Amino acid sequence: MIEHDLTSENYFSPENEKKYMGSSQFKNFLRCESSALAELHGEYRRETTDALLIGSYVDAHFEGTLDIFKAQHPDIFTKSGDLKAQYRHADYMIQRAERDELFMRFMSGEKQKIMVGEIAGVPFKIKIDSYHDECLVDLKCVRDFKPIWNEEKHIKQPFIYYWGYDIQGAVYREIVRQNTGKTLPFYIAAITKEKPEPKLKVYWIPDDDLDSALEEVVGLAPRFQQIKEGKLQPQRCGDCPFCRFTEVLTAPVNYHEEFEVYDVECE
Ligand SMILES: [Zn+2]
Repeated sequence: MIEHDLTSENYFSPENEKKYMGSSQFKNFLRCESSALAELHGEYRRETTDALLIGSYVDAHFEGTLDIFKAQHPDIFTKSGDLKAQYRHADYMIQRAERDELFMRFMSGEKQKIMVGEIAGVPFKIKIDSYHDECLVDLKCVRDFKPIWNEEKHIKQPFIYYWGYDIQGAVYREIVRQNTGKTLPFYIAAITKEKPEPKLKVYWIPDDDLDSALEEVVGLAPRFQQIKEGKLQPQRCGDCPFCRFTEVLTAPVNYHEEFEVYDVECE
């Protein structure tokens, strides 16, 4: 094992976010370099959405730290002290998962296993939801399992790919390999938030997909690292909340320019 002093308490501390790249941070840079950097410097905070918080709630349950989570998030309760409806539904999602034997077997590994390593010379950290000697499992709460429309690429994509879970799997698999010498398969244990009944599935992401995702990480991590170190200027995506917040208009634009891609498609 490669040595480190990361714990579940300091894993996301500003110091460790600067010291290490993680798969979420990598995906943030992929979406918008300027926003990711501003967040790292504490100049911008993404809104904690209910969707994110429900995911953390379910994570905390499986980690065995739900009591602490509840104490730290008083906003998930109503004024009269009951859990808000969406978190009662999260409890229901958990109960649904707990009565499936296969799902629970995948979730029965060592929880929140932390490891560090290096990809393309860049220090990386990972925290695995459920670590087994023979496989790696990450827990996800998603809206549903339907493909998601990618506005930028104008295609529908599997939700696994859309949310970059292949990138996460590639990073996990590579860092685990550096620590244990083993190249392990990566699974997503997924629960939907659908009402009235959530849906469950354990997805396997094929090794080929992880290979190409790792290539993407190897190709871009050094650039993101240089941006983190202030050696390269970050690019703005122009569209995310941070870019909208900080945009300064310089001149009028011909509206056709923005809709060019649609014009072509409508012909
Ligand atoms: Zn942006």
